[in-house]
Amino acid sequence: MNRLFEQRRARMLTYQAMREGRLPAGRQLQCPKCGGESAAQRWNALRMVCPLCGYHRPVGAYTRLWQILDPGSFRELDAGLGSTDPLHFPGYGAKLKELRKKTGMGDAAVSALGSIEGHRAVFVVLDSRFLMGSMGTAVGEKVTRATQQAGRRRLPLIIFAASGGARMQEGIFSLMQMAKTAAAIDRFQKRGGLYISCLTHPTTGGVTASFASLGDIMLAEPGALIGFAGPRVIEQTIGEKLPEGFQSAEALLQNGFLDQIVPRDRWRAVLSQVLLLHEGKKGGAAL
Ligand SMILES: [Zn+2]
Repeated sequence: MNRLFEQRRARMLTYQAMREGRLPAGRQLQCPKCGGESAAQRWNALRMVCPLCGYHRPVGAYTRLWQILDPGSFRELDAGLGSTDPLHFPGYGAKLKELRKKTGMGDAAVSALGSIEGHRAVFVVLDSRFLMGSMGTAVGEKVTRATQQAGRRRLPLIIFAASGGARMQEGIFSLMQMAKTAAAIDRFQKRGGLYISCLTHPTTGGVTASFASLGDIMLAEPGALIGFAGPRVIEQTIGEKLPEGFQSAEALLQNGFLDQIVPRDRWRAVLSQVLLLHEGKKGGAAL
């Protein structure tokens, strides 16, 4: 009986740790950037930021929401929404099924209502574990519906991007999402809605070229790779060597593309301040 109880308790603790993006205690984890090893407890305490070099390890969508939202304020929107396989792309249907089981997500984005320090907003968070956070029909639809929801409720919209771009397995249906999301955000902004875009590592391709770059306020995590095409493709196209750190959040800040770089432990403080500053402006008229 006791053993059963212990087993159940261990399972619950593991589940809790997974949800919060924590690693089980006692493990050592190597940093992919500096190569140094640190104890799991230290990674956990710093929310998956390397204790040695400050590298920001990508975190899952639910973990991100758990880190920034007020406890108990999370209410998921469109949870059942997932991509189908419109082009019958070889292996895609099976891959979707496998990833849904592995990540517990319907597709590469989670949208939700929630609050930060009591300021309510609509959130969308992309998850790079699900086909590189690529945007297919489901991600595009979730971003669009969340934007419309923010408009209807007159709430600010906050999107955390982390994406390899448009999802090639859905071809033209993916590319169409760029225009669809950009149009929804344009309508929202024209009616006075506030959109805060938060770019995390990596944000590239069709996501950079659509909704991720359209924020009224543009924020990013330190060291995040942000760009359209990869450096190698650009070098081959223009026939020139790119400068060091090209496409990093820091270079983008220097060139006026970003408003601020926000370390992971500062997201709540920075976002709540921005929301407070714009509180008088409750978002657009009903869409
Ligand atoms: Zn490191």
